[in-house]
This record gives sequence, structure tokens and C-alpha cells, in this order.
Amino acid sequence: MFNKLFSLFSHDIGIDLGTANTLVYVKGKGIIIREPSVVAIHKKSKKVIAVGIEAKKMVGKTPAAIITVRPLKGGVISDFDATMAMISHYIQQVYEVGSSIPMAFSRPRVVIGIPSSVTEVEKRAVWEAALSSGAREAFLIEEPMAAAIGENISVFAPTGIMVVDIGGGTTEIAVISLGGIVVSKSLRTAGDDMDLAIIHYIRLRHGLLIGEKTAEELKISIGSAYAKNTKQKTQDLKPKDEKEKNEEKVAIIRGRDIETGLPKSLRITEVEVREALSPILTQIIDAIAGVLEDAPPELTSDILEHGILLTGGGSQLSGLDHLIVERTHIPVIRSEDPLTSVVRGTGKVLEDDSLLHRVKVIGGLK
Ligand code: ADP
Ligand code: MG
Repeated sequence: MFNKLFSLFSHDIGIDLGTANTLVYVKGKGIIIREPSVVAIHKKSKKVIAVGIEAKKMVGKTPAAIITVRPLKGGVISDFDATMAMISHYIQQVYEVGSSIPMAFSRPRVVIGIPSSVTEVEKRAVWEAALSSGAREAFLIEEPMAAAIGENISVFAPTGIMVVDIGGGTTEIAVISLGGIVVSKSLRTAGDDMDLAIIHYIRLRHGLLIGEKTAEELKISIGSAYAKNTKQKTQDLKPKDEKEKNEEKVAIIRGRDIETGLPKSLRITEVEVREALSPILTQIIDAIAGVLEDAPPELTSDILEHGILLTGGGSQLSGLDHLIVERTHIPVIRSEDPLTSVVRGTGKVLEDDSLLHRVKVIGGLK
């Protein structure tokens, strides 16, 4: 009875607690928050100073007394207090910006998508954090499941579906059938490692030190997984302007010369970035192959027929779909909006109670 009354006034909230980005969906309103999963904390007092965009601005610039953390970096909760602070910050924010009703009278239902590698104890802690931040009910669902639902895939069909979600800290690979995850792997190699591989490569090859931000920008602007113009011969016959279109991209980056210690600019080509990323992409594709091997043969043949759903921010790397198809011989379907698959999934689950109760891994009333 009270539950029904509450639901008339409250905002139901879906949260994608990602390793790199946190997104918040409010029922009836859509996605209202997209911020980096970063928290700035005062070292001694452990007081939270900033969350999200504000905290990210401080990364690499903090005085000794302040630290910035990414509480979910490796797909496990490395900093409990920071994770709790993030959840309650966003739940409160929904009420501050969007509601004339105080939260005490309209406690929300909250659905949170979490990496599948988060342990049972940690899941319980996240669930309790949501409840203590004012949620009336809190539910947790696993990210690959949320991503599939977000992409309108019918997860209850007796057909094997493979989801590959390449985030910042983890790549979630899962085979779903009949509403459950049959086999999965949470690989700790994803977008962040691509950035680190670029840093490493440029240091070795050019003796230049660059920061993570520069490396990420390089990956996004000229990074690729697959060479587009392998047909060199036919290309020579094309008119000049078309030929130029097919040429590899370049970027100018700035860093610090290791020998002199002075700032230096350098021209980096798409080919070099591809070479730097190659070992990381091989690790991801090997893990996909490993999960396929562990899946029951009936489901493998479904996947061979229907393809792999590729999502997550890291999946936007140019040509990655081609590389996966070439190495695994399985078709790949790219999400049209890979940064929001999981949070859209939590939103769909909020709209449909029976769906929620079938896919939740933990949750309900306390
Ligand atoms: P998570 O779910 O772990 O929070 P996201 O799905 O938000 O992660 O993806 C974040 C990752 O996606 C980061 O490593 C970021 O560098 C990467 N990324 C974002 N856009 C692109 C792009 N266009 N090309 C390659 N990587 C990208
Ligand atoms: Mg994610």
C-alpha cells in the first residue's frame, strides 16, 4: 500500500556504475547525468571533496592533501567509501535538480548495473549504499545483461547471445540465454590499457613521455584496429583526391623528451597507433574466443549465426568490428550508442517489473 503511494511521487532511477563513466537514467525523463567515475577525497579526513566532472578536473593537479580515485577502476570496488559517496551523490542530485518533492516523501526505486566481476560482498555493499542513500528499493543487475536489454535483444529466448562490452577498466564478455548469463568473463583489459599501450609505445619508439589524457585523445582521434586500404594496387588507379582520402591519418602530439627533459612536439601516424594497440586487441579477441570455447555447443552455433553484440565506449575504436570478424569468423553487430547501452537497459528494467525480477542478481526490500 505504502509502496504504491510512494511510487506515485518518486523518481525511479537507473544507474550505470561504470569503471570510467557513471550514467543516471530517471524514469519518464531519460538520461540526465553522464559523468566520469571519479571522486576527489581529502587524504587525512577522508572527506569527499568532489564527484564526477569536478573531480576529474582535479586529476593530476591535486596538492598533497587531496587524492583523486576511480573507485571501480579494475571492475572491482577498490575504494568502498568513494563508491558509496558516488552513489549517494547521484541519488541526491536527481532530487535536487528535478523534484519539488523532498526525498523523504518520495523515496525512489533504484536499479544499478555493475561489472559482473564485482564480488557478492561488494554487491551487497552497493545495494546497502543505495538503500542508505534514500532508495526505497534497490536492485543490482549485471552489466552485460543490462547492455543486451538496452539494445532490445530478447534475453529470455532459448537462443545464445554474446555481448562484448569494452569499457575503460574492464571488458565484459558474456553469453546469455533464457534470461541468465551462461558463461562470462570480466577481462581487466579495456580502454585504459589501450591508452597505456600508446604511452609505452611512444616512450620506447620516440623517447617521448606523454600523459594519459594525450594518449586517450590520440586513440580517439586517429586510433584504429584495422587497416582500411589494404588494396594498394587498385588505389593507385584512383584519382588523386580520392587517393588522399584513403591515406593514413596523422596527429601532432606534445610531451616531454626523456633525454633533455624539455617539451617536444612529434608527428604520430595512424599506423603507429595501430601497432601500439595491437597486443591489447589481441588479448580482448583471445578472451572472446575463450568464452566461446566454454559455451555449450548449441549456444555457440546460435552466436555464429546471429553474431556478437559489441558495445561500451572502447568498442568505438575504428575498425574493431572488422578485426573481430577477421579473427573469429563471427559477424559483429555494433551498438549505435555504445556509451549508453547499460543505462538504457536499467531504464527498461525500471519500466517492467516482471523483467526486473527475472534479471536482478540482488535486491528488493531490506
Ligand atoms: P565504463 O563502462 O567502464 O565506464 P565506457 O563504456 O564509458 O566505460 O567507455 C570508456 C572508454 O571508452 C574509455 O577508455 C574511453 O577512452 C573509450 N572511448 C570513448 N570514445 C572512444 C572512441 N571514439 N574510440 C575509442 N575509445 C573510445
Ligand atoms: Mg560500462
